[in-house]
Amino acid sequence: MGNLNRQIMYAVLMSIIFGLIFRWCESYYFEIFFGPALILIGQVFLMLLKMIMVPLIFFALTTSISSLKKNHQSQRLWQGTIAFYLITMLTAIIIMMTAFNIFSPGTDSELLMNPAGVSGDETDKTSYSLSGVIQSLIQNPFKALASGNIMAVVVFSIFFGLSLRSSNKNIQNVRSLMSGLFDSIMQIVNWIMRFAPLGIFALLTDLIVKQDMAVFMELFYFIAIVIFVILFHGLVVLPFILKFFTKIKFMDFFIKGKEIFITAFATSSSAATLPITIKTLEKNYKIEPNVSKFVLPLGATINMDGTAMYEAAVALFVANIVGINLGFSDQVILVFIAMAASIGAPAIPSAGMVTLVIVLSTLNLPVEYIALFIPVDRLIDTFRTTINVEGDVVAALVMNRFIKKS
Ligand code: ASP
Repeated sequence: MGNLNRQIMYAVLMSIIFGLIFRWCESYYFEIFFGPALILIGQVFLMLLKMIMVPLIFFALTTSISSLKKNHQSQRLWQGTIAFYLITMLTAIIIMMTAFNIFSPGTDSELLMNPAGVSGDETDKTSYSLSGVIQSLIQNPFKALASGNIMAVVVFSIFFGLSLRSSNKNIQNVRSLMSGLFDSIMQIVNWIMRFAPLGIFALLTDLIVKQDMAVFMELFYFIAIVIFVILFHGLVVLPFILKFFTKIKFMDFFIKGKEIFITAFATSSSAATLPITIKTLEKNYKIEPNVSKFVLPLGATINMDGTAMYEAAVALFVANIVGINLGFSDQVILVFIAMAASIGAPAIPSAGMVTLVIVLSTLNLPVEYIALFIPVDRLIDTFRTTINVEGDVVAALVMNRFIKKS
């Protein structure tokens, strides 16, 4: 992983150098040869990420839910954890959306791209209905898996995971098969990540060559607000919740958990941080193993405050850039779709960037604008992953207290 991180850093550096050279030369060869090649490589990288996203979520959720034991305490644990995750994510999104509505970054920028077929008129035609949402949540699982309907996959994974808790011998065989399949999916994720330096190089170089400098200035404002608000959630809101429920002090929390936060920041992956999170909490807080082994893996999969905040921020920013006014009902939809997309985002680097497709397309915003955020994704991912993991740690400490009291 360390090696890969270094390669990604080199890829970023190389892309800046090559991007500036190509930009400066206005090379004919770039237009004819390098440009299309970079687009192809970048697209393949994005397609690989999308390819693995759905199976990864399915196997991760199914295996973690199938390992829940059946008793009263585990029922409290399961319900309390889900409620905690949903409430903290909701709070995080609302804080970010409030900041974006106040500061409105992106409103002064010119239309940076003009993707074919995207116009303000089209966005007005979207209509959302409760029955439509429910229909998209409860679906034939094969259709949901094939069409990449993440939330329907999540719903089915919950049912399927619960059914695998049976003591029936045949079903238990399926359970171990599922956990083996999950391991093999993680192996594919590792392979895809090896392609990440090249994919990132391609995407970044292409972007730098074509990028309008005004966008960078606009993005700096966007980045500053996003990071400031994410840090506010991590340094104020989450520690306050922790103190309220557990009386654990702010400094104690950060000192005892520093290995976790540094690892999360460095790896940009909640999943990669998970072994250290579990070990540190059991060692430094003597947390119940059955609490940490349930709350933390589930949290790494579904609880992503930082990612949820980012998804909402990007949607509002893109809407501002293209001059689409998201009204109150659109913003309410955004709250839920940002939450759903972050729940569905796998705990790997830049996963939140991929699930942005769901958020933008649901709101009928131009999906092509994701390209704008690729250069800043590594940076923002470090912050959002740290906050994602912090949310899991706070949940585990609160649930530990809750279970001990019950
Ligand atoms: N990298 C994040 C995580 O692992 C997910 C994301 O891309 O937002 O928690």
